[in-house]
Amino acid sequence: MTEFLITAGIFGACMGSFLNVVAHRSIQNKPWWGNERSICEACGHVLGFFELIPVISWLILRGRCKNCGAKISVRYILVELICAAMAVMIVRRWGLSWACLVVSVGACSIIINSLTDIEAGDVFDMFAITPGVIALIIRLAGGKSAFLDGLTGALIGWGNLTRRNGLGGRYVHVRNGRGIGL
Ligand SMILES: [Zn+2]
Repeated sequence: MTEFLITAGIFGACMGSFLNVVAHRSIQNKPWWGNERSICEACGHVLGFFELIPVISWLILRGRCKNCGAKISVRYILVELICAAMAVMIVRRWGLSWACLVVSVGACSIIINSLTDIEAGDVFDMFAITPGVIALIIRLAGGKSAFLDGLTGALIGWGNLTRRNGLGGRYVHVRNGRGIGL
């Protein structure tokens, strides 16, 4: 079990690193798929394999670029650690199951939308809607009732979000669909 949880933690940290990149590049309007290598934004140094290892590389480099010494935001390691902890908690609670997959998609959604919101005060429709659709499709594995259950929850959530006086009314109508910003 311990090895299993450690593996989940490592996977979570890698996922956190990936979400960091996806959020940052999306804000910059750059593609996050393909072969584009990660670079230091201060000096353009292309990051090598060891500089991309989640958590460990940040600690070894003490949060600075190996080439120019520019500071690397503490947010990177924080997100990697949070995602590692979330992965361990999710796997511990649900094991390797369809429920684990659905919760993981939800967790990734929360993280990436928080990141774009914190960094740019923006929440991308793609990252808000796609995880919901994926989670609904996965719920089909649990049969019709599980799917309808999920669909009901999604519709209530959506209604609450778009209703002017709902929880997300301010998000949609006051901020014109943009994030709260920090
Ligand atoms: Zn640099």
